[in-house]
This record gives sequence, C-alpha cells and structure tokens, in this order.
Amino acid sequence: MVARQSAWESAQIQLAEAVKHLGLDDGTHQLLATPRREMTVSIPLRRDDGHVEVLRGYRVQHNLSRGPAKGGIRYHPSTDIDEVRALAMWMTWKCALIGIPYGGAKGGVTIDPRLYSRNELERVTRRYASEIGPIVGPEKDIPAPDVGTDDQTMAWFMDTYSVNKGYTVTGVVTGKPVSVGGSQGRGGATSRGVMYSAFAALREAGVAPRDVSVAVQGFGKVGGLAAQYLHDAGCKVVAVSDVKGGAYNSMGLNPAAMLRAIRDAGMESVAGYPGTDPISNEELLELDVDILVPAALEGVIHDGNADAVKARFIVEGANGPTTPDADAILEARGAVVVPDILANSGGVAVSYFEWVQDLQAYWWTEDEVNDRLRAIMDKAYDEVSTLAREQGVSLRTAAQMIGVGRVAEAHRTRGLYP
Ligand code: NAD
Repeated sequence: MVARQSAWESAQIQLAEAVKHLGLDDGTHQLLATPRREMTVSIPLRRDDGHVEVLRGYRVQHNLSRGPAKGGIRYHPSTDIDEVRALAMWMTWKCALIGIPYGGAKGGVTIDPRLYSRNELERVTRRYASEIGPIVGPEKDIPAPDVGTDDQTMAWFMDTYSVNKGYTVTGVVTGKPVSVGGSQGRGGATSRGVMYSAFAALREAGVAPRDVSVAVQGFGKVGGLAAQYLHDAGCKVVAVSDVKGGAYNSMGLNPAAMLRAIRDAGMESVAGYPGTDPISNEELLELDVDILVPAALEGVIHDGNADAVKARFIVEGANGPTTPDADAILEARGAVVVPDILANSGGVAVSYFEWVQDLQAYWWTEDEVNDRLRAIMDKAYDEVSTLAREQGVSLRTAAQMIGVGRVAEAHRTRGLYP
C-alpha cells in the first residue's frame, strides 16, 4: 500500500504548486519552505497521584516577514514536530491571504487531554507557557486555541506569561474568555467564517442555502457551531461526528440541541444521540450530501477514499483535511473545494481583532466584530475565486498563490539580511 501524504508533505506540495504558478526562484522557494524558528520543550508534569511524567511540546514560527507570528496550540496524542510545521506554514499563507499583519506559527503538546484532569491540564499549560515564554509575546508570537485546547487554556497561558513578566499582558494570546480581554464573537468566528465561505461558493453556483444538505465531521469548537449556524441559516444538517462516532438522520438534526446536550447534560459524544442512526467517520465523509465540512483533523480525505466522496462542495473547517492526491481526484470530478486557508480563516481574523482590542484596551461590540469578519471573508473569497477563474486553477491553488505571493513580496521588499 502506498503511504498516505502527511500534513507536512501536503503543505510542501501545495507550496511547490503555488511557487510554480507564481514563477518564484529556487532561493525564495527554499526560504518559504523552511520554518524560521522551532522550539522543542520538555514538560515535566506532576500527576494528581504524585508521580512525574515528562511530555513533549513544540512551537514553530514558520514565517515572520509580515508581522508577529500567529497560530493555535494543539493538545493531541499524535501531534509531532512535522504536524506542527505544516500547521505553522498554513497559518503563514492564511494570514497573508486575508490581509492581516501576521506571520504563521503553531504549537502543540503530545498529549491526549481526555486522559488528564483539569488540574493536570492547567499545570501542563503553565509549564508549556513558561518554556516557550522567551519566543512568544504580543509583538513576537501570539498563540490561540486549536484541537484539544480552549478559552480556559488561553486564560492559564495569559496568566502564566503575565505573572512571569510581572504585569498583565492580555495581548499575548487570543481566544481568551471575554472577562480577561477576549473579544466578543471570537468563540463562533471560525464557524461563522466557514458558513460565509460555504455561502459564497453556493452563491457562485446559483444554489440556495435552504436547498442543501450538509454533513460535518468533528463536532468540536469549529464543527459544532458551523453545524448550528448552517442549520439556523436553513440548510439541512443530516450528519455530525466526533472522535467516538457519528449521528445521522436523513430528515435533519438539531445541532443546537446536541451542543446543549454536550455542554449542559454532559453527553460525551454525538454518537447515540436520541432519534439518530449511528454512522462512522468514514461513512460520513462518503454521504450523498451537497456540502461536506471536514472539521476534525488533517488528511481524512485521501487517495484511498476521495473517489467515494460525493459532496459537490467540500468546505474545509479543519486545516489540511484533503491531501494533494485527493484534491486532484475531487477536482477531476468537478467538486468545489473551498480550501482551509480561506474557509477557516474567520478564527484568525477575529483573533486579529482581539489582539487589536487588547493593544488599545478598547472594546468592540459583537455586531462590529461580525460585520468586520464578514467583510474580510467576502473580500478574500472574491479575490480567490477571481484569480482561480483568471488562471484556470483550483480555489486551493489560487488561495495559496495569493498568500505565498504576498509573503514572497514582503521578503523581496525587506531584502535579505546581512
Ligand atoms: P476541537 O478539539 O474543539 O474539536 C475537534 C473535534 O474533532 C472533536 O469533536 C473531536 O472529537 C473530533 N475528532 C478528533 N479526532 C477525530 C478523529 N480521528 N475522527 C473524527 N473526529 C475526530 O478542535 P477545533 O478547534 O474545532 O479544531 C478542528 C479543526 O479546525 C482543526 O483542524 C483545527 O486546526 C481547525 N481550526 C480551528 C480553529 C479554531 O479557531 N479553533 C481555527 C481554524 C482552524
């Protein structure tokens, strides 16, 4: 069996494609292909029973040419340095694509957070924050939540950084609770952006939201609210899933009620939700729906299953869910893939708004945040779709060309030191 493309291989192949279309020289290609700075740390953790365990953590700053680095922190058992590198690179192109003044970064700890108590996770976060402390800060690198982390993780991170500094530095992370300098609208921003970009793709195809069915893989921070917003806007959400399995109902689900059952009633998985049939994560990807939103992990649509994916629109809530091999298969059958760096960029857009508010200590209303988010996302979608049409390339290649091109331009303009 041929090995599937990893996230890092996928990111490199996508970069090479953009470099080819942009006609960049080899030196610039190498510069863009290589992370600027990488830090690996050990995180000694005293478990609740008293024994000590040592975890691995990472922070990769892929590029800093357009501003401080920006990117989430992932807690997941399969996180390693190559995955973090890929995610950091995608952050660079994403920030450039939507025109916010950041480079790209990502962090991670190799840990299954479900196996640790809240107190243990707080200790892991505080030690990790201290270890990577020297390379982060509001002017250097600004983390945010990702898979396995949340607003509480960011509050611990911000507190640790601030205590070590001796004063409160709200702008060191985004995705914080509003009570400690978070922004209105950040919690739902990525999912709202997924909806806006899905609707932009539907508009181009002349399809009304009320006529489409949707399946969402990953019912977490991004997928859960994306399902809810799409449902609220009139789409029929027929399937959702999480790591433990999925729930299917051809008549449509009520994502808001399912989210409440998780949040308020302690339901551990969407699998087994009353009134639904079980469905596996693999089966969900192959459902005959109009829109598929992969919103869990990378590499889930690959050369082994892309042929079986039937959705007309694949709107990437997750980072890197479609490998380049799968992209080619989907493109050949005319599917529209709204790429990750466009579709899920609403999160970092509102993270940027949060950082701006923190630096100014001046707060915006939720309507202001959502209006500005919509403006950024619609503009980015238009630019991508126009370039795709002009150049005869996929939305992914067009989005990468814009992002990569802007970073290359920043390098050219700044010059090479020394
Ligand atoms: P999360 O931890 O809140 O949710 C992840 C979801 O995926 C959970 O429902 C989990 O059960 C499920 N999952 C995990 N492993 C799975 C597997 N093997 N199969 C099926 N489902 C699985 O994470 P999130 O923040 O919602 O992030 C999801 C994706 O969106 C990631 O790719 C992340 O990088 C990307 N993303 C997140 C943000 C953000 O603001 N949080 C922004 C942009 C992109």
